[in-house]
Amino acid sequence: MDTRQADIVVIGGGIVGCAAAYEAARAGMKTVLVEKGRIGGEQSSRNLGFVRQQGRDPFELPLMRACMDLWKGLEAELGADLGWRQGGNIALAGTDEAMARFAAWLPDATAAGIDSRLLNPAEAAALLPGFEGRTHGALYTPSDGQAEPDLVAPAFAEAARKRGAEILTGCAVRALAIEGGRVAGVVTERGILRAPIVICAAGAWSSLFLGNHGLRLPQIGIELAAVRTRPTNLSEIPALYSPAVAFRRDSAGRLIGAVGTDYTYHLRPETLRFAREFAPLYRKSWRGARIRLGRPFLESLKQPRRWSADRPSPFEAERVLDPTPDRAESLRLLDGIRAQFPQLGALSIESSWAGRIDMTPDLIPVIGPVAALPGLLVASGFSSHGFAMGPIVGKLLAELAGGGEPSLDLSAFRFERFAEGASLGPRNAM
Ligand SMILES: Cc1cc2nc3c(=O)[nH]c(=O)nc-3n(C[C@H](O)[C@H](O)[C@H](O)COP(=O)(O)OP(=O)(O)OC[C@H]3O[C@@H](n4cnc5c(N)ncnc54)[C@H](O)[C@@H]3O)c2cc1C
Repeated sequence: MDTRQADIVVIGGGIVGCAAAYEAARAGMKTVLVEKGRIGGEQSSRNLGFVRQQGRDPFELPLMRACMDLWKGLEAELGADLGWRQGGNIALAGTDEAMARFAAWLPDATAAGIDSRLLNPAEAAALLPGFEGRTHGALYTPSDGQAEPDLVAPAFAEAARKRGAEILTGCAVRALAIEGGRVAGVVTERGILRAPIVICAAGAWSSLFLGNHGLRLPQIGIELAAVRTRPTNLSEIPALYSPAVAFRRDSAGRLIGAVGTDYTYHLRPETLRFAREFAPLYRKSWRGARIRLGRPFLESLKQPRRWSADRPSPFEAERVLDPTPDRAESLRLLDGIRAQFPQLGALSIESSWAGRIDMTPDLIPVIGPVAALPGLLVASGFSSHGFAMGPIVGKLLAELAGGGEPSLDLSAFRFERFAEGASLGPRNAM
């Protein structure tokens, strides 16, 4: 590739980048998406497929409410099977305190037009045939749904391509091209792509990528193991979240899940680098987590934090982030499911994998421009729930890229909130 011109370059072929490329191409923009590995190779194919409104930070609710309308029509829009089902989502409360948190959150959901409601333990059990676990009640949202993660980003990419977008895979973006204090495109390993607008949708790599340009995005990575069981005889139930386990049943009766709060967190240099911004989250969520200091810390130390665009970058060194799943975590998951549904008996694993989640200090993403670098839009830090939001975020990014006002208020998601000390900290109800 030599030097070429586009209206917009998207960095990252996860659901967010692919949805943005689709919407931009649909709006008539000459669009190029650049992915270092394969489409949907990282978080976007490794998640559990929950499409949930419930329990979210109140700032996200209008986006998710609008996103559900997109999900309902998405298979027709993209001309692809996405495994979409609107079977509801139930979150079990492990304590009265959790139930009180759900109750305090409910008025925000109602105000956003979301059909969430509280259930007492008997009502919750009635929705979960075979459930023998303990619960103090539940939050239930009938309009929540699920989809098959490995189908969605590729479907967006293919639909974008049909609308004229160019999709480059196996091609890393090394750096932004900057001229006169604004973005002029990107430098890839195959050459320069010129464009007045660049979207950074680089998932768990965004902080490293932006840091090379002196832009501070506080982000830490949490690795989570996930499991798909062989088909079970569990009847249809809503996608289920509890403090111990989160899982859903797919159309073949297989269970796809991960542990809840009981995950293993490997300390890395960024844990300390962003300690100031993350302190409230560490206090809130480290109670259940198993904190480890070991090889991942030392390996991360070896990763360069600054490089020049004329040499191979860290993005070429790791085409697809493919963490080894923690077997003990996977077994804890199976035990947790069996404790809730003992009639399932022995569960066997069909496949297991892990993904690195891009967390922000307040557990909501950055979506929007970067004031210090005109032309750059960032959409990253979806903090373990960005699969569900992908379609609406793509639409909003295309609106911003087109130079207009976004159709939903994005001020809470601005890049600068951490530096300004304006972040409100974690406000989700989960
Ligand atoms: C185990 C697990 C369970 C989850 N469960 C859920 C769930 O049930 N529901 C939900 O809503 N969310 C869930 N999530 C979170 C969800 O998967 C993510 O929030 C979402 O996929 C983020 O999408 P993305 O496009 O921002 O990032 P990603 O899918 O990570 O994509 C980023 C892409 O950018 C590419 N890239 C990075 N740097 C460069 C570069 N320099 N040049 C070129 N390409 C680059 C990467 O290769 C990658 O493909 C879960 C995540 C995990 C790991």
